[in-house]
Amino acid sequence: MNQPSHNFATPKNDDSKIQKRLSRLVGKAIADFNMIEQGDKVMVCLSGGKDSYTMLDLLLQKQRTAPIDFTLIAVNLDQKQPGFPDHVLPEYLSKLNVDFHIVTEDTYSIVKDKIPEGKTTCSLCSRLRRGILYKTATQLGATKIALGHHRDDMLETLFLNMFYGGRLKSMPPKLVSDDGKQMVIRPLAYCTEADISHFAQVMEYPIIPCNLCGSQENLQRKVIKQMLQDWSTRFPGRIESMFKAMQNVVPSHLADPQIFDFKHLETQEAPFKDGDLGFDPMPLESPTTDLDKVSIINLN
Ligand code: SF4
Repeated sequence: MNQPSHNFATPKNDDSKIQKRLSRLVGKAIADFNMIEQGDKVMVCLSGGKDSYTMLDLLLQKQRTAPIDFTLIAVNLDQKQPGFPDHVLPEYLSKLNVDFHIVTEDTYSIVKDKIPEGKTTCSLCSRLRRGILYKTATQLGATKIALGHHRDDMLETLFLNMFYGGRLKSMPPKLVSDDGKQMVIRPLAYCTEADISHFAQVMEYPIIPCNLCGSQENLQRKVIKQMLQDWSTRFPGRIESMFKAMQNVVPSHLADPQIFDFKHLETQEAPFKDGDLGFDPMPLESPTTDLDKVSIINLN
């Protein structure tokens, strides 16, 4: 396995804090979800965007310090988008002295052929990309596929699924592919987009934009992102609280009979775990506005 020659840039104070926070949160996510194990070969999907560059750097750092041995291989899919600078990633990865593999598949032509002009192409494009990456992982003998989605992607997906799909579903930090053969991990699951953006700027990554294909960014996702950013400004701590809620699910207080057996619910003499309380313990000191106080009281 090649030893990476690249190290983090010498950061200023704030930059150093962000770097440490990202590193700590990646370590925590890996540990909490048992993402990487002894002997794993992790295929790191590198699109050329800020998230995947950051993920690769943080995983390289973990590889140097972790008490287990695992290997990394960076993989980029050249989708033959017009103007894709196909020299950028090979040059960057060669300098880094990281094992890498470039897959070339013209999904751009397929997408253009199948989707009528003016319609959004991202969902077919992502499905094709995902299929190719799974196939590549099998060919390379990779035991894990690492994707660069972060906390804010996960929250946006949660709201997208609720608003447009009628499902309480997000992007999990770890999941098995539809065919059951691949294990997908998201080591940036606890990291914020703001930290990643800051870090990527400090590192001066050679960013390749995703929209070379000319497609519009998913409009619904854009609207949700804006909504979350707006909440974050008006109600500090709300985003953190919502992300915490994703890790703290109480099936007996939702309404899905598939995950909680409401039909056979019975009273009992002993205290009932997750039974209804007169008042849920709420951090009443934290609401930032009177409106918040009112909504908490109404929840009880
Ligand atoms: S912006 Fe273009 S390359 Fe990116 S996912 Fe959408 S269709 Fe694919």
